[in-house]
Amino acid sequence: MTDSLEAFAQQRLAKLASANRLRQPVSTHRPDARLMERRGQALVDFSSNDYLGLTRDPEVIHAAADAAQRLGAGGAASRLISGDHPEYTALESEIASLKGTEDSVAFGSGFLANLGILTALAGRDDLIVADRLNHASLVEGARLTGSKVLRFAHGDPQALDSRLAEHRRHCRHCLIVTDGVFSMDGDLAPLRAHADIARRHDCWLLSDDAHGVGVLGGGAGSTAELGLTASEVPLQMGTLSKAVGAYGGYLAASRSVTDLIRTSARPFIYTTALPPPTVAAATAALRRIRRDPELCARPMALARRLTRRLDLPEPASPIVPVILGEDRAALDAQQALAEAGFGVQAIRPPTVPEGSARLRVTLRAPQTEADVDGLAAALQPFREGAAVG
Ligand SMILES: *Cc1c(COP(=O)(O)O)cnc(C)c1O
Repeated sequence: MTDSLEAFAQQRLAKLASANRLRQPVSTHRPDARLMERRGQALVDFSSNDYLGLTRDPEVIHAAADAAQRLGAGGAASRLISGDHPEYTALESEIASLKGTEDSVAFGSGFLANLGILTALAGRDDLIVADRLNHASLVEGARLTGSKVLRFAHGDPQALDSRLAEHRRHCRHCLIVTDGVFSMDGDLAPLRAHADIARRHDCWLLSDDAHGVGVLGGGAGSTAELGLTASEVPLQMGTLSKAVGAYGGYLAASRSVTDLIRTSARPFIYTTALPPPTVAAATAALRRIRRDPELCARPMALARRLTRRLDLPEPASPIVPVILGEDRAALDAQQALAEAGFGVQAIRPPTVPEGSARLRVTLRAPQTEADVDGLAAALQPFREGAAVG
C-alpha cells in the first residue's frame, strides 16, 4: 500500500518537475508593508494582494490584539453552535454598508464562500453560465452544484447572451457567474452588459470582487466603480484576505439570501467560526477603507504610472500583467527582477492558459513612486518583443 503511494507521489512530482510545472511555497518574511524578504534578500513586494498595506496597519493590528485578549485566539465552534462571537455582528454590518446591500454573511475564506454560495443557490435542475477565466473557486463551486455548467468567452456579453438564448429555457434557475476583476489579467467584467442580460433572461448575477474591494469604486469595489447597484448585481461576493488585509470571505446580498445561506450552505455550517482577532482586524480595515478614499485610490495611481512608463494599455485595476508566453521566459524574468530587488510573481499554466505565462505585477499603496519607476526600468528589457496583455 505505502509503496504504491510513494511511487505515485514521486512519479507525479518528477513529471511536473520535468515540465517546469512544479510549484513550491518559498518561505517569505514580510518585515513591513512594503518589503518581502526571501533567502535573506529584501525585495519590494510587487506580488502580494495586500493592496493597501492593511496587514501591517497599526490600527488593524491593535483591533486584532485587543480581540485576542478579550475573546481568545480561536473561533471554538461553528457559527450555528456557539461560535457566533460578538465581533461578527460588526463585521457583517460593515460589509453591507460598504457594499450598499441589506445584509452580508461572512465565510471562512473566499474559496469557501464561492463553494457555499453556489451550492446553496443552484442544484441539478439549474444552469450556471461562467466566464472562461473565472477563479478556480468559482469553477469548483459550480462543479459541486451538479447544475449544467456552460462557459462563455472571456468578458464577452454577446457570447453570454447566445448561451442563454440556447439553454436558458431548459433550466429552472440560472446563475451568471463572473470575476468582477480578473485575478490574472486585471481587467473588469462588463457587469452593466451582464446585468442587462441577466434581467432579460431571468438570471441571477454573481460577481466575485476579491480584487475590487478597497481599490476600485472609492473602496466599495468594481460594482460601484461601474455605477451599478445591488439590484443589478444581487450577489456580490468578496474576500477579506486581499485589500482588507485579514482573512475570510463574504457574500453581500439581500437579507433573504443571506438568511438562506446561513441555514443551508454547507461550507458555512460545517466549519469553525473565524477567530475573533481575524474578524476584528477585518472590521477595522473595512472602516479604514470607508473613511480613507485617498488610500484606496493610490494603487490605481501607481498602476497608471507603471503602464505609462512601459507603454502598456491603461490599467483597469492594480493588477498589471506582462505576458511573456513561454514558462521559461516568465521564470527567467522573475529571477532577473529579484536580482534587481523587485518581488514579482511569474504565473504559469494551469493558472493561466497555455502559452500565456506572465509576470503578474500588483501595485500597492505602500510602494513609492521611485519603486514603480525602478521596476519599470528593470522590466523594460522583457517588455520588448513580448506579447502584451
Ligand atoms: C483570492 C481569490 C478568491 C479566494 O479568496 P480567499 O479568501 O483567498 O480564499 C476567490 N476569488 C478570486 C477572484 C480570488 O482572487
